[in-house]
Amino acid sequence: MSHATAPAAINLDRPRFRSVILDVDSTVCDIEGIDWLAARRDPETARESEALTAQAMAGEIPIEAVYTRRLQRIRPTDDELLALAHAYRAALQPGATELIAALQRAGVQVHLLSGGLRRAIVPVAEQLGLPANRVHAVALARDTDGTLSLLDGDQPLATQRGKPLIVQQLALATPSVMIGDGSTDAAVRGVVTQFIAYTGVAHREHVVAVADAVADSFAALYPLLFHPVSSR
Ligand SMILES: [Mg+2]
Repeated sequence: MSHATAPAAINLDRPRFRSVILDVDSTVCDIEGIDWLAARRDPETARESEALTAQAMAGEIPIEAVYTRRLQRIRPTDDELLALAHAYRAALQPGATELIAALQRAGVQVHLLSGGLRRAIVPVAEQLGLPANRVHAVALARDTDGTLSLLDGDQPLATQRGKPLIVQQLALATPSVMIGDGSTDAAVRGVVTQFIAYTGVAHREHVVAVADAVADSFAALYPLLFHPVSSR
């Protein structure tokens, strides 16, 4: 892993935002968790899951139309969710750990906001120095066969409008910024001060088109999240 450090002209004591919200799949980590699980099944399940994820992230179909269908097809076990947590940890974007640490040292509240599976994301958050209550993701319930194939009651993040809804409920300190690659991240635009499209893993034109700024790496996020040294 490369250790991207802050550019010299950045003042790490002067963050631009009081709250930073990061998407996980294809932003903090370069995998899509549900597709990763599906890839452990037959090729047809993997292909179908990947196509559904791509369509949902492109805004072509609502997530809620596919979320339960993918879960019921994949039927993830406890062990597989643990394996996914390890895969996430191995798939952190270069510099992600360092940037999140720098933000926290500057007193910024950092949150992970994901349509992915909470159980697999909490261990990644721990590695990033974020407590479990900064993780907002989809909680699963056990089906009769012992697999975690059901949503645990009402899970707004398994729906298209979940991210803006959760951000509103969190009543975050402002100014706030959302950083992500997908259409569900762009949907947060109206309830945060700024939306940054992250293109380091996936470049989606319609997401970039509505963004206030674009970053293609975690190193590129520094000038967007911190003031320069010279500014007073
Ligand atoms: Mg994403």
